[in-house]
Amino acid sequence: MYFVQYNNASPWAAHVAGPTTVVDECGICGRGRRVHSDKVSITLENIRPDWPDAIGGDSSGRGHLIISERAAQAFAAIDEPKYELLEAEMPLSCPMSYFLIVAPLGIRFEPEPGFDEYRCECGRLKKNLPQDVIEAFSRAMRSNAFTPIEGSWNGSHFVDARVGSLFCTHDVIEQAREQGLTNFKFDCADSSLRSRGSWDGIDYLGKLWPPEKWYPAID
Ligand SMILES: [Zn+2]
Repeated sequence: MYFVQYNNASPWAAHVAGPTTVVDECGICGRGRRVHSDKVSITLENIRPDWPDAIGGDSSGRGHLIISERAAQAFAAIDEPKYELLEAEMPLSCPMSYFLIVAPLGIRFEPEPGFDEYRCECGRLKKNLPQDVIEAFSRAMRSNAFTPIEGSWNGSHFVDARVGSLFCTHDVIEQAREQGLTNFKFDCADSSLRSRGSWDGIDYLGKLWPPEKWYPAID
């Protein structure tokens, strides 16, 4: 599994607006995932003459990935999508259609070790924990290399995992490379957030394939 985002954040940072709904609510703590449920409207902070295949928005959630119609078609060619594509209403100057990916909860990762007593059954930290536990957890999250739990993948090529990031399969990267889809950023799920700080993701459009490096330098 790979983290998937858009690259080149600044000029294409977007605001994503539209109706949302809460899904996958936990039977114990009541918390769920808030996802978009209908057509979204996109505001871009800066418009450039070229339109990449991936754009996204930090302001309304790291997991937002908005893809061009041709990217949507390329990924749908892998097999029948198990994720949703919501129409994204773009600024008037945009020459093509874009879609927001709404991914199902589709994989579980081994939890960060050492926090079992602080967790709800859904995996989230319990509410009202002492500040030092929350800070220690946030440090552990940054250093964690996500290892999928055997048999937990639901077969969708884009999945959410309740860690605030979108994940995709290797097939998605292969399609992005074959079709020359631009501005995606892929990272191995088992590379830590901390180690990825200054690296630009897997060079999926580079001359060499498979690439020389799948991982950033070890932190
Ligand atoms: Zn819960």
